[in-house]
Amino acid sequence: MSMPTTEFQRLLELSADVGADPALVQAAGGNTSIKQQGTLWIKASGTWLMNALTSEIMVPVALTPLLRALEENDPKAERAESFVAADKNPEGLRPSIETTVHAALPQKVVVHVHCIETIAVALRVDAIDLLTSLLGNFNWRYVPYIRPGLPLSRSIVDCLYDESGRPADVIVLGNHGLVVAAESVDAANKLLRSVCAALKQPARPETNADIEKLELLTAGSNYRLPLNSEAHDVALDEISLQVASGGSLYPDHVIFLGEGTVVARQGETPAQVVERCVSAGKPAPVSVVFPATGVLMQNDCSAGAEALARCLSDVCTRVPDPSVVNYLTDAQNDELLNWDAEQYRQSLNKKEQAVDV
Ligand SMILES: [Zn+2]
Repeated sequence: MSMPTTEFQRLLELSADVGADPALVQAAGGNTSIKQQGTLWIKASGTWLMNALTSEIMVPVALTPLLRALEENDPKAERAESFVAADKNPEGLRPSIETTVHAALPQKVVVHVHCIETIAVALRVDAIDLLTSLLGNFNWRYVPYIRPGLPLSRSIVDCLYDESGRPADVIVLGNHGLVVAAESVDAANKLLRSVCAALKQPARPETNADIEKLELLTAGSNYRLPLNSEAHDVALDEISLQVASGGSLYPDHVIFLGEGTVVARQGETPAQVVERCVSAGKPAPVSVVFPATGVLMQNDCSAGAEALARCLSDVCTRVPDPSVVNYLTDAQNDELLNWDAEQYRQSLNKKEQAVDV
């Protein structure tokens, strides 16, 4: 890494810290950036924030030409690869899919997370009312769900500035997560922590999975217990189960676990669930929820899938009633699954790296 400055080092430390907290970031989700001397240092696609101090995760992008491409609606802005300073990118990393979001914000430091508290609010149909009551002290915006990348950065720019030309520094992304922006890493960190605290909602208490029954179900199947015991929670309370079973709630769920949540019917074995999905023209599910019992994961599922299985429980146990939830539409699911940039991330994920929508 060339040019590490104190601020740059602080950003790496914050990235590692945020990336190691499953309440803020799951797998390769989320991304951070800093603008220095005309260069936007942005997390690379497929790398994990939690590895910020131990491996190369930041890639340098020339800011001015990227902003020009963004203004001119040049499709090259989306991947931003053409603007990478190749001489400072020996590992050939690709910039995050969210690079244009980071570039479009004028503040020096930008942090984007998939905070479970934020998602649990941002997927609600009454998100704006709730945010208005919870974020009274912040200069915030809410952007309804739109595909991550170029469409999202355009939506943010459209609502970012007030009449006096002052930009907001807290952006809640519908069915997605949170962006905070500040002029220093410390200020971004403080803002992040205070927004997440303000959005904190009570979670329904954990109950115990029926591990014995789950182990019986795994016998002879292509499924096993999840690595994180929290992943079971979505199966164990009726409201969470209803929230999850209504569809896809946010992008990384679709990327890592597939569209929606597959719930086993009374008495079904994993093999029978797979058969039901496949005969309906759908893939074998990465995870299967067994009501009042727990969750099983495909034997060869990725670390990203494990992280997103836990995230589903963390989010759903914070939603009070399934009637308040917005789900991704069929078209929104399809555009995530068939998106070229996502396919790149999915291929990285198969190599046990992962995402950053
Ligand atoms: Zn994201």
